[in-house]
Amino acid sequence: MSNPGPQNFQTPRGTRDLLPQDYDVHQHVVHHAREQARLAGFGFIEPPTFEAADLFARGVGEGTDIVEKEMYIFDDRGGERLALRPEGTASICRAYLQHGMANLQQPVKLAYHLPIFRYERPQAGRFRQHTQFGVEAIGVRDAALDAEVIDLGWRIAQTLGLQDLKILLNSIGDLEDRQAYVPLLKEHFEPHLDRIGSDDRGRWDRAPMRLLDSKDPRTQPFQADAPLITDHLRSESADYYAAVKAHLESLGIPYEERPSLVRGLDYYTHTVFEIVPTTASGSQTTVLAGGRYDGLIEQIGGPPTPGIGFGMGIERMAGRLQEEGLAPERSTGPDVLICALGEGADTAATGMAGNLRRNGVSATLAFGGRSLKAQLRHANRSGARYAVIVGARDLAEGVVTIRDLQTSEQEQIAIADATSELSSRSYTQRQD
Ligand code: ATP
Ligand code: MG
Repeated sequence: MSNPGPQNFQTPRGTRDLLPQDYDVHQHVVHHAREQARLAGFGFIEPPTFEAADLFARGVGEGTDIVEKEMYIFDDRGGERLALRPEGTASICRAYLQHGMANLQQPVKLAYHLPIFRYERPQAGRFRQHTQFGVEAIGVRDAALDAEVIDLGWRIAQTLGLQDLKILLNSIGDLEDRQAYVPLLKEHFEPHLDRIGSDDRGRWDRAPMRLLDSKDPRTQPFQADAPLITDHLRSESADYYAAVKAHLESLGIPYEERPSLVRGLDYYTHTVFEIVPTTASGSQTTVLAGGRYDGLIEQIGGPPTPGIGFGMGIERMAGRLQEEGLAPERSTGPDVLICALGEGADTAATGMAGNLRRNGVSATLAFGGRSLKAQLRHANRSGARYAVIVGARDLAEGVVTIRDLQTSEQEQIAIADATSELSSRSYTQRQD
């Protein structure tokens, strides 16, 4: 094969580099999410990035977009069929079973912050690799727990200061409720099957409830007058839903009931919810989605075990922060830039920078052996508050010059005092 020569390498389609300015916004979201999860008693877990492909086929569900067309599947060199994680819940439930967590006190509450891989059509807010912060509370079916999980999602948004969001809530009942409801739903769509797309026609057969939240414009005209699951809940299921709402009210959490909100698989049960912008438009605006999945663990080989959780899209939350003008200011470079001038000054500057860092002051050098003027220009551009000028002649006298880069004031100070002086100044600066 001929050598193709150097290539113009780019990130794969639908992926991106998270650059420092965006990284800080993401970390800001994650920081608040972790703190709120901790307050609600969640521990943290990190499963591997790839798992048996079958885990997701069973745990997410044949008949979902994820399994049908979005998974990154590959055979490894040993012939094992694996998939990059297309969502978090199945992995966490697998871990719950694998580590015998049913023997722990229930519910087991686990939170995670993970990259997620889906082969989707890239659009604004829709990537082939995105990041989710998610939680799962496994082992208990209690309306108070559903409300606590929804509260956690809402608290994350609130503590970040996001205003223009709302909670959508629904109950999709359980298998028994749906035995009565699904035939009515299928009956409703049946006369229109020749007018809806082939994907949705397939869903009509395998996961008919998914037609209710289909984004296909050919299906949408028939959604409005479709029968609603909430009108067909058995009294036990209706009571459970009412209890969730009562707990939410006690928590002081606003919600909007949205009877068309569904997860269309048998092992999703009862509570489903999303957090969306108040002026939701388009199909990639949901920042958080979750629900109860009392049949899932059985589906992946465990005993019947209830569970509830959500996944929050970090990129979409970061996008909301930017849109609402709430993104934290980009953290600037170091506080102190050290400029060295003359014989022997460079090593003294290195030592001083090290000393400052060991005392908690962020400091670095104006590298490159340039003139003092060039180094000071570098210091100014770096965003540092102070420059320290270490000159060979001053060193002999045991002093250095501290220059305030905002006011251009300069003063000489004994080398022995420089670290404590800069340390106290950068401390007061952080308090401003
Ligand atoms: P959507 O309806 O937008 O496709 P979904 O139902 O596939 O979302 P979930 O599987 O519930 O989403 O994932 C939870 C959250 O992860 C979503 O609410 C969203 O914030 C985020 N998310 C999902 N897919 C993507 C993606 N391709 N790019 C960026 N964020 C995503
Ligand atoms: Mg999707």
